[in-house]
Amino acid sequence: MPSLSQQQTSQIVTRLAPTPSGYLHKGNIFSFLVCWLYARQNQGRVLLRIEDLDAPRCKLEFIDATIRDLQNLGLTWDNEKIMYQSQRSDAYEEALEALRNLSVADLIYPCFCSRADLLAASAPHAGERQVYAGTCRGLSADEREHLMQERPYALRCGVPDETVAIRDLWQGCYEQNLATECGDFIVRRKDGLFAYQLAVTVDDLTQGVNTVIRGVDLLSSAPQQLYLRGLLGGGDEPLRFGHVPLFVMPDGRRLAKRSGDKGVSTLVQEYGSVQAFLGDLAYSTGLICENEPITADELIAEADLSVLRGRDEILCR
Ligand code: GLU
Repeated sequence: MPSLSQQQTSQIVTRLAPTPSGYLHKGNIFSFLVCWLYARQNQGRVLLRIEDLDAPRCKLEFIDATIRDLQNLGLTWDNEKIMYQSQRSDAYEEALEALRNLSVADLIYPCFCSRADLLAASAPHAGERQVYAGTCRGLSADEREHLMQERPYALRCGVPDETVAIRDLWQGCYEQNLATECGDFIVRRKDGLFAYQLAVTVDDLTQGVNTVIRGVDLLSSAPQQLYLRGLLGGGDEPLRFGHVPLFVMPDGRRLAKRSGDKGVSTLVQEYGSVQAFLGDLAYSTGLICENEPITADELIAEADLSVLRGRDEILCR
């Protein structure tokens, strides 16, 4: 069983990884703020990566707005050149080739199941995950050959019956058995699009990310990303995780870009200033004790991130 993440000794390198499929909402901003504050409070580096893997859904307008919102909020990044997943197909292809070349039987295999890959390009948010029954893993070489001539196919990565454990900065210990709770997962969709899990793992390795901070709905993706990272030879430096509570509406609904929840610029307008918005965000989530206008820079000294411990939801006012 892979060991729990070790105490961090090297400089923290983390990333802001927005998917520009809509305007950022308050919950997105909260995760980014926490990620940024954690790095800045620990003299770490913050890298920006635009996760526009699913290009048709990621419109230029949303990419521009995302970058502008982060800038306006004062959430700075340290990479001169922003990484765009839409420009990284060669790196993903190379990683896939490296996985294929490993001497693990059936590690990467074609899957012909219908509708299997619909969600694979985007991060699997709460309730979207299904454990694959392994149907296509059992096909003979001849059957595969034959079907590959006839039908489009996705590529899956096989998982062993192994439990992966992580010690999350705020969620504590989390364990997952790869075979029973995750299952063989898609690394390339039928339409040729690379899957989120592969892309994120490859990008984190390329960017030297050692600390992943994001919404808690992605906690269940951490074990497969660690598994892939190990297969791709990146197991040396421990990867640390911090999963941030999600915003929920009083009726229990999660905020979502696709539900038309208010974007940052509208919120800032309503609050009258970025500082008033950030002050209220930090206050209402318990990061600071008084509701007063504040900048992101000032929050580095003021915000107490330990209040996130053990919380997976925050009620949105
Ligand atoms: N791009 C993903 C999202 O916006 C986050 C992926 C990650 O942080 O690993 O949901």
